[in-house]
Amino acid sequence: MSLHRKIFLSLVISIVGISIVFIFLTHLTVKSSIEAGIKETRGQEITELNKVLTTYYMENHHSWNDLEQLNVLQNIHQDHPEIVVMDNDHQVLKVGNSPRKLIQYLGINSEISVDKMKVGQFFYYDPEVANFKKIMIGIPISVVFLLLLSGSVLIIISLIIAYRLSKWLAAPLRNLLPMIDRLGKGELGIQVPANTTDEYGKITEAFNRMSKELEQAEIVRKNLTADVAHELRTPLTIISGKLDYLQHQGKMIKPESLLPLQDELLRLNQLVEDLRILSLAEAGKLTLNKIPIDMMDIANQLILALKPIAEDKSISIHLDVQTNDTAVLVDPNRIKQVFLNLLTNAIRYTPFQGTIYFRLIKENNDFLKIIVEDTGIGIEPEHLPHLFNRFYRTDEARTRYTGGTGLGLAIAKQYVVSHNGKIEVKSILEKGTRFIIQLPFSDKNNFLQQMSN
Ligand code: ATP
Ligand code: MG
Repeated sequence: MSLHRKIFLSLVISIVGISIVFIFLTHLTVKSSIEAGIKETRGQEITELNKVLTTYYMENHHSWNDLEQLNVLQNIHQDHPEIVVMDNDHQVLKVGNSPRKLIQYLGINSEISVDKMKVGQFFYYDPEVANFKKIMIGIPISVVFLLLLSGSVLIIISLIIAYRLSKWLAAPLRNLLPMIDRLGKGELGIQVPANTTDEYGKITEAFNRMSKELEQAEIVRKNLTADVAHELRTPLTIISGKLDYLQHQGKMIKPESLLPLQDELLRLNQLVEDLRILSLAEAGKLTLNKIPIDMMDIANQLILALKPIAEDKSISIHLDVQTNDTAVLVDPNRIKQVFLNLLTNAIRYTPFQGTIYFRLIKENNDFLKIIVEDTGIGIEPEHLPHLFNRFYRTDEARTRYTGGTGLGLAIAKQYVVSHNGKIEVKSILEKGTRFIIQLPFSDKNNFLQQMSN
């Protein structure tokens, strides 16, 4: 059943249900208030008669015998009062002049009890009471009739409103459904106009967001395939070109002629390995062998290893430690790779006689902040948001051969994130670049606790 029908049906059921309950309660209230009114007008007479009949029953040895002889109405000062008395078995013991059924139907009923046991009942009747009773029967009937009439009109109006309302409520979903269908069939990026700010508007916005993200993911996937093919082609072309050249020479191949081929193969191997690591990290399947490590040791090792290439450009690397708390729980090989890439980039993009700082700062009780800062060429602001994307290079032509594959920062980000850390970059063109990494202490504390237990 469609949503529109479901909403309509539930509205119909509630409207009809409420109307029935309303009519029933009105009828009951009118009837009982008139009844109470009639009883009130003849309350004294009824009590008097009840007393006379109860006394008679008790004095007559708990029997109604010879009741006809008793003049029970002698003290009732109303016009033409009449009475019908019945015992417990509904046997009529005494009846007035009017037909018994009329007195019973239009009279006031009262029970006769002795020691809280019902011993009989009587109906009191006079013309005035009869008139009241007729009104009492007439009014609720006409009230119910009127209510039914006006209720029916109201129900019809409410049903028309309910029908339109349910159609209106379900309309945004009806618009959205074909779009979901189209998205499912591959029309990625499709957008639905969101005209409202209510829940439907939010669903539409969420749909639009999801559709855009799917489109983006598809673009990234296509680009990735193209990028991988492109990156693989360059070394493969070089290798095949060089092999062709060697073959055409028709001479014995000297070992040193094979060195450039070996270089390209190493580059190819590195690229394939980087891609493998990146896809593992992105799928969350990277295994981390975490141990408590002093970041100062890692910094010293890396600075020592990179000293020769830094000195080639007269670049000095300074270690600036601003905290005593420099131990974190990390996989040392992965974290070394992160900072090796950051330092290599810093050396690569810092001109002669520049300076590189490796700073260790305690951010708060949770994070150790590690900053790799250079006085290099800087990065233009438009490149910054994409810097951690795969194969992203700010100057494609220049860095393809001088730089690396453009995977270093993408891998660095995945490694940092898989350690529950954060990485960001700030840069000013011609002034320098600063990479800020935060690695959590919390993991280390848990680890040390586990070790001591
Ligand atoms: P790989 O690291 O895979 O060998 P790569 O160094 O080219 O290759 P990334 O480390 O991901 O790749 O860097 C991406 C790009 O960011 C670089 O090509 C460079 O354009 C820019 N970049 C990175 N670090 C700096 C820096 N310190 N100063 C200026 N530009 C930088
Ligand atoms: Mg790099």
